Amino acid sequence: MAAEVAASAGHDVTVFDQHRSPARKFVLAGRGGLNLTHTEPLNEFLERYGPERRHLEVPIRAFSPADLRAWCAGLGHETFVGSSGRVFPEEFRAVPLLRSWLRRLESLGVRFEPRHRWVGWSSDGQLKFAAPDRVIAIAADRTVLALGGSSWPRVGGDGTWVELLAGRGIDVRPLQAANCGIEVVWSDVMTERFAGAPIKNAAVIVDGIEVRGDPIVTRTGIEGGPIYAHSRRIRESLADGSVDVRIDLMPDLSLERLAQRLTDRRRRGETTTKWLRRGGLSAVAVSLLREATRNQLPADAHGLASLTKSAPVAATAMSGIDRAISSAGGVAWSEVGPGVELKKLPGVHVVGEMLDWEAPTGGYLLQACFSTGWAAGMALSAAD
Ligand SMILES: Cc1cc2nc3c(=O)[nH]c(=O)nc-3n(C[C@H](O)[C@H](O)[C@H](O)COP(=O)(O)OP(=O)(O)OC[C@H]3O[C@@H](n4cnc5c(N)ncnc54)[C@H](O)[C@@H]3O)c2cc1C
Repeated sequence: MAAEVAASAGHDVTVFDQHRSPARKFVLAGRGGLNLTHTEPLNEFLERYGPERRHLEVPIRAFSPADLRAWCAGLGHETFVGSSGRVFPEEFRAVPLLRSWLRRLESLGVRFEPRHRWVGWSSDGQLKFAAPDRVIAIAADRTVLALGGSSWPRVGGDGTWVELLAGRGIDVRPLQAANCGIEVVWSDVMTERFAGAPIKNAAVIVDGIEVRGDPIVTRTGIEGGPIYAHSRRIRESLADGSVDVRIDLMPDLSLERLAQRLTDRRRRGETTTKWLRRGGLSAVAVSLLREATRNQLPADAHGLASLTKSAPVAATAMSGIDRAISSAGGVAWSEVGPGVELKKLPGVHVVGEMLDWEAPTGGYLLQACFSTGWAAGMALSAAD
């Protein structure tokens, strides 16, 4: 986005990327439909960035969700609003939009240099790149670093830039997994029978905050939307040593109604598993209750209902950053001025996930990346 804005202002722009093609993580994001942004009122939208709202508000207001949709339409790709207010390109994937975008960039004269890994600055301030067969140095009037966080390094960045910037005295907060699953030590039964199984229509509760959805059991824990939405809370609680993750397996029934239902559906001589299944719980949900109680399920309807409404999940850690949707941490906001320009390295702008913010899924990630890229492009265009 910074390249587009700068090239539109008449600048000579080259995009270097370590991978063999650009925007590979953008393409990966397209596998889930490419949730570009969200239609909720801007004030609510901005709240999704938590304390970092104060830093992202200016760029997001300047290049807003509505601007992003108009930009897509300008590339010939209309967007549509999904049932939850999330915005997707009509094709529901990234590649057609990316192709149109690359065509526009090429028509603006933007050059692409794939398989060029940025490895720092030379002693005379040029940018150094490891190309397939040699290291080259490039003099640039302005630089935009858009190297991402360190999730999914196979398609994105790997965070090795942290050392390069820290070496220049820049405060970089540790990159941590965001929008990721949690690790849970399951019994063999849970792993072998239920890894990959969704827990349909559940609510994950952390610190009294409930997020509905279909969490998925994995071999090493649980992942999926409602867990991702809590990932900041869970990560911070794990750091404090006081994490309390619970799952309401029947969020549409009150405790009393569930207890009554279980009482009504009890059959003499039946196992507790069959009883719970008759009460409407799925096999994976029953297994989760067994995990939560080390196989010591309550014998009475009220006890089972209470457990079903608030089954504890013993999270031991966040899943690895390699498979996280995004990264928290990055370049501290105190290091950047207007136009996301590094105060200690004038002429160098930092955008996207390299900056220290995080947000839930729902289009907030890409929007902040587009908006900060736009802000950098505008600032560097205005400066010259
Ligand atoms: C599976 C998945 C699904 C997602 N779905 C969505 C979604 O639907 N909606 C949403 O809003 N967000 C989604 N995201 C998140 C979104 O893709 C990221 O927030 C966004 O791509 C980050 O953009 P970025 O430009 O900061 O970094 P990236 O997209 O990671 O791009 C960084 C680029 O820098 C390059 N690079 C890194 N280091 C170097 C170096 N030293 N030299 C040269 N090049 C380098 C990398 O090769 C990469 O191309 C998803 C992420 C994943 C993993």
